[in-house]
Amino acid sequence: MKTVVEIGEMDRRSVLHPFTYLKDYAEGATAPTIVETGKGVRIKDASGREYIDGFAGLYCVNVGYGRTEVAEAIARQAYKLAYYHSYAAHTTEELARLSDRLVKMAPGRMSKVFFGLSGSDANETQAKIVWYYNNLRGKPAKKKIIARERGYHGCSVVSGSMTGLSFYHDHMDLPVAGILRTGVPHHYRGALPGETEEAFSERRANELEALILAEGPETVAAFIAEPVLGTGGIIPPPSGYWPRIQAVLKKYDVLLIADEVICGFGRTGAMFGSDLYGMVPDLVTVAKGLTSAYVPLSASIVSEQVYEVMQEATPQVGAFSHGYTYSGHPIGAAAANAVLDIVERDDLPGQAAKKGAYLLGRLKAEFDQNPIVGEVRGVGMMAAIEFVPDRGAKVPFSPELKVGARISQAARNRNLIARAMPHGDILGFAPPLTMSEAEIDEMVFIAKAAVDEVLRELYAQGAV
Ligand code: PMP
Repeated sequence: MKTVVEIGEMDRRSVLHPFTYLKDYAEGATAPTIVETGKGVRIKDASGREYIDGFAGLYCVNVGYGRTEVAEAIARQAYKLAYYHSYAAHTTEELARLSDRLVKMAPGRMSKVFFGLSGSDANETQAKIVWYYNNLRGKPAKKKIIARERGYHGCSVVSGSMTGLSFYHDHMDLPVAGILRTGVPHHYRGALPGETEEAFSERRANELEALILAEGPETVAAFIAEPVLGTGGIIPPPSGYWPRIQAVLKKYDVLLIADEVICGFGRTGAMFGSDLYGMVPDLVTVAKGLTSAYVPLSASIVSEQVYEVMQEATPQVGAFSHGYTYSGHPIGAAAANAVLDIVERDDLPGQAAKKGAYLLGRLKAEFDQNPIVGEVRGVGMMAAIEFVPDRGAKVPFSPELKVGARISQAARNRNLIARAMPHGDILGFAPPLTMSEAEIDEMVFIAKAAVDEVLRELYAQGAV
């Protein structure tokens, strides 16, 4: 067996880590965390240190770590048939069962499910389906996809282009052409003085309509959005937002792609974010909670209306020519079925609604009056605290102060993982949906100590 030091050295020499300062890591300025085990809402590293995971990995381990029934379902399928492809109508029982339940569960009038491995590839598939659909309908000019500022849809070429956070584009030649951008529905930051949530939503919908008209509706194919904006800052929509946006999309024959990668399977307190906000999407993207990340699996779910056009075109176009070696992997399907059994049996959406309300209440109680807290927000089991030096003026901290990252680090020093969101000074929470109220108390207690520590430092620095 390798020692912790040996594992670390091997890793430092060989792994190209996502979202890691490469030079700092290569030169030893940052140390690896060797994650060894997980149980419930906690993970343990190789030194035996245990963390409470307030972010469920990357908002994905919704059923918590160490669920033996999921591990057993994976093992059973691996022993029986570890792999076969799903090209040319090959399938497995687990795959057929999973597709059937997703079509029935999903929001909107869904017809078929295409399987991938990640949220990024699933959104890439959605873009191709949108283009295919309009080609088949004889509308080859109708191809542009509108995404929102600060939306996150992945980091592959098209999904990364749909992502509205510039650091995913910089130095990597993104975004590609044909992706348009509209405003983020964040009332706290975007509203005019005195503007109500309803009026702000109206303004965002009007901006969307103006964009579609300026581009020409005959060139705009789809609008992609997360029901609750996630990586861009955990931002629930202002009231009236989704009905107004959908009315605009309908008027101009623009498809709605609901990116449910975070929201899907209970995170918002409903089975899907779309259910919570009355969205009727044409295409639905899911990943993360689909298998609670026990194995990689994503899905692009396609409505009857879109699928019908694809099917009818068979005589002209032949086979649907898109697919991955691992599309519909039987182990992924088995894991998803086992996870969805838990989600349904234990009513995780209902639990997320109840415990999410408790979490938000606790965060508001602890932080609403804090001198550097601008907004405490959330829905279901996702919540965020946004930090500002001056609550009245709402201006952000200077980025060099790295306030969000310092608070996240101070929490980590106390064995809590709460994520510094990559845009602005925002601390995010998205724990397993199974987290108990006592564990929520523990998480909020540590977060409070972390914020207090950084607040003291900021006073000492004269930054507030
Ligand atoms: N869409 C959303 C809403 C996401 O949050 C993410 C990942 N955070 C993705 C897509 C991309 O998923 P993946 O990282 O699995 O490619």
